[in-house]
Amino acid sequence: MTITTVRGVRDILPEEMVVWHALEQSARQIFTAYGYREIRTPLFEKTELFARAVGATSDIVEKEMYTFSDRGGDSLSLRPEGTASVVRSFIENNLHRSLPWAVYYMGPMFRYERPQKGRYRQFHQMGCELFGAEGPLADAEMMAMILRLLRTLQIDDSLTLEINSLGCGTCRAPYREGLFAFLQARQEQLCDNCRQRLQRNPLRILDCKNEGCRAIARQAPAMKDALCVGCADHFSGLQALLDGMGLPYTVNPLMVRGLDYYTRTAFEVTTTALGAQNAVAAGGRYDGLVAEMGGQAVPAIGFAMGMERLALLLEGKRAGKSGQVGNYLVAVGDAATRQALLLAEEWRAAGVPLQMDWLGGSLKAQLRRADRAAASQVLILAERELAERAVLVKDMRDGGQRLLPWEEVAAVLGALR
Ligand code: ATP
Ligand code: MG
Repeated sequence: MTITTVRGVRDILPEEMVVWHALEQSARQIFTAYGYREIRTPLFEKTELFARAVGATSDIVEKEMYTFSDRGGDSLSLRPEGTASVVRSFIENNLHRSLPWAVYYMGPMFRYERPQKGRYRQFHQMGCELFGAEGPLADAEMMAMILRLLRTLQIDDSLTLEINSLGCGTCRAPYREGLFAFLQARQEQLCDNCRQRLQRNPLRILDCKNEGCRAIARQAPAMKDALCVGCADHFSGLQALLDGMGLPYTVNPLMVRGLDYYTRTAFEVTTTALGAQNAVAAGGRYDGLVAEMGGQAVPAIGFAMGMERLALLLEGKRAGKSGQVGNYLVAVGDAATRQALLLAEEWRAAGVPLQMDWLGGSLKAQLRRADRAAASQVLILAERELAERAVLVKDMRDGGQRLLPWEEVAAVLGALR
């Protein structure tokens, strides 16, 4: 019996890495350019952190968390998302003194979900959090940044930006009551799941995928019509800024997001290219969360994007080869092989990227492996070259060859790539 991965969890093989590296590099570049710095938080935290930050009645905390007791008896959970840890870190490190504070993260998240294409139990997110900016400018700029990243990756066709406002502490409570009354009067027509969460989280019913629930949701009172003056100004301010930047968007009054902590702006970027798993990025404002978690009141906004879904979109676009080596060193014969090991170290120290053939054998076998490794140049060291203290450099693209003395290798090939 061989041991396999856990259900819903997968390896990212070297062949897939071109796509992941492209994702990571473009994201780092763009987030940095907009003023975000990287933060790395632990992969597990006290369960209570997620219960309080994400919300005890959220799907994530109720059904999706990997929770366990460690040997000391503490209840810990693998992180299902990144914002809770960033907020904890912000408070724990007294960072309210260094506002505005803007960070990005990327890494694995864990949710016990029904695995399918684009939905896994260990998956990766990259995201940004901006603390201290209250106005809609931060929201609009963040959306522009996400779209810039997707454009840079050339996966911006078939995308839609949807926005909504979820109101604040002042206007959401009365709205929620009205919504609850509306839904309660129609609870017979709701799906089982929604009937169960009617008391605890009626807003979530608005984005249920069930056809019956959707028909009711479309008739339900909308948060955007119940906003207080401050929230209404913020939302119209956001739309004016998006219009000014020429960023197309749609207002979706049924988009409420799964996490309890959102206030005011909520947004999602969806694609038509991935079937059911159509959300590639999602985020929103969480102006109340820092205070709720025990810090000083600080407005904040953030988003996360699903890297597996971005990778799926990217894969469809490019057919690049992964991990192409530049130079490939082939040695034939024992004496040449021993010398090759020394020369390879010397040349690498001088800045020449160089992969050595690991298996040896005939020249033909080694050249075949060089070809498979997509080497651009092969350096051949056999008996004749050893005697002449030179290598035969073969260009794999045009087949051209030249003899290069050892002491010239660093100067000639060090500049390559
Ligand atoms: P969905 O509605 O698809 O379950 P979500 O609302 O749970 O998404 P968020 O918690 O907002 O998602 O996470 C942000 C992004 O992370 C999503 O838009 C998606 O791209 C990605 N994501 C979420 N859950 C998974 C998962 N189990 N596997 C892969 N990617 C995921
Ligand atoms: Mg989900």
